[in-house]
Amino acid sequence: MNVEKIMQEVERKNPGEVEYLQAVREVLESIEEVVNENPHFETAGIIERIIDPDRVLTFKVPWVDDKGKVHVNRGFRVQFNNAIGPYKGGLRFHPSVNLSILKFLGFEQIFKNSLTTLPMGGGKGGSDFDPKGKSDNEIMRFCQAFMLELWKLIGPSTDVPAGDIGVGGREIGYMYGMYKKLASENTGVLTGKGINWGGSLIRPEATGFGNVYFAKEMLKTKNKDFNGKLVAVSGFGNVAWGAITKATELGAKVVTISGPDGYIYDPEGISGAKIDYLLELRASNQDIVKPYSYEFPSAQFIPGKKPWEVKVDIALPCATQNELDKNDAQMLIKNGCVCVSEGANMPCTPEAVELFLENKVLFGPGKAANAGGVATSGLEMTQNSMKLSWTREEVDEKLHHIMCSIHEACVKHGKDDDGFVNYVKGANVAGFLKVANAMLDQGIV
Ligand code: NDP
Repeated sequence: MNVEKIMQEVERKNPGEVEYLQAVREVLESIEEVVNENPHFETAGIIERIIDPDRVLTFKVPWVDDKGKVHVNRGFRVQFNNAIGPYKGGLRFHPSVNLSILKFLGFEQIFKNSLTTLPMGGGKGGSDFDPKGKSDNEIMRFCQAFMLELWKLIGPSTDVPAGDIGVGGREIGYMYGMYKKLASENTGVLTGKGINWGGSLIRPEATGFGNVYFAKEMLKTKNKDFNGKLVAVSGFGNVAWGAITKATELGAKVVTISGPDGYIYDPEGISGAKIDYLLELRASNQDIVKPYSYEFPSAQFIPGKKPWEVKVDIALPCATQNELDKNDAQMLIKNGCVCVSEGANMPCTPEAVELFLENKVLFGPGKAANAGGVATSGLEMTQNSMKLSWTREEVDEKLHHIMCSIHEACVKHGKDDDGFVNYVKGANVAGFLKVANAMLDQGIV
């Protein structure tokens, strides 16, 4: 396989789609060796077929604000690959949403979902709608207008969307309500649902919990653990919240959270009542990071900076793509950070990842380390099909087990002759092999 030649063609077909091209290159470089060892993948066109989404759907979403003004946003659903199960992946509502971002996320999702061991294909969707500052009614009207188009494309056995940035339990609720009305059915067509109407316990915190479970497994290979460690977390959304909660439970002290305008440094640790306060702010759609520093005197708000300059043992980037670059990686390494586990999707730039690997930092790539969210979505789908609900302990145990299996798969495919585990390679190869073999079995479709 000639990675450069394939990339030239992908660049020609998808000009300017920076994030998508970045994600494709990373996977191709990781799987090059295994594809060269298995020439039948190339003969069957697996690489070309896996790189291109099955279909990309865009639609207009007109909605009315509280003052009666009409706005028009763009909606998307990228159905990437369904070789091992129905398309599955979140919906993102954020002004930065474009096709490149959704294609990168959908592409990553194929391998992530494959790693979970559950039967789920890859997809992603969303809109450039900005939920910030919108009233509850405006959010509801937007979600309903979005579903008016999306419902034609999804179904419990075809495509099962979930949440992502800007889409939490409230938005899933409004979209599910509209789907149910339009389709005249009450099925598990979305995950992240409320507990009273088909949701799974642990789903909201699953991505963050899973990320910490994965980091715990990586640390274990070096006889280390979370107890007594200092941790830097970025963002304060669904993923960051779960990660902070679990890291604290395991005895670590989380000293940062962040937003787009800066970060909070709280040397006394962010836990307990402080997390409850942050959740209240989030629920009321308010700015989170700055008010925290007014409320808690131990905390300092550092404007325009990222948390990676703080001296910590473990870093958990949980906000957004490309939020940790080469300089940030250099600072973390210089300060003695031993483990970086991606809660967000592709938060570390390729240059940062390269530095971590060169310096033998334990580095967990998002497609493995944050797979706990979609894994628990898969568990929600199973509970919906079986028409029963598992307890919190049952779901958490299954999640923990899945994260350990993902770690094992990464070690199996990513360990080099010196015993160093390249988790990026391990995750890409393990995720790829399962999907590629399924595609081979199913013929040219
Ligand atoms: P949320 O919308 O709940 O939270 C995102 C958080 O990141 C917010 O606190 C936001 O701050 C902050 N943020 C956004 N942009 C920046 C930035 N440039 N710098 C610093 N902070 C920023 O999203 P999620 O927690 O659901 O998702 C976070 C990441 O995790 C995404 O990459 C997502 O794709 C990934 N992910 C999510 C899963 C899930 O289950 N939700 C599953 C797997 C991956 P503010 O609100 O102030 O904008």
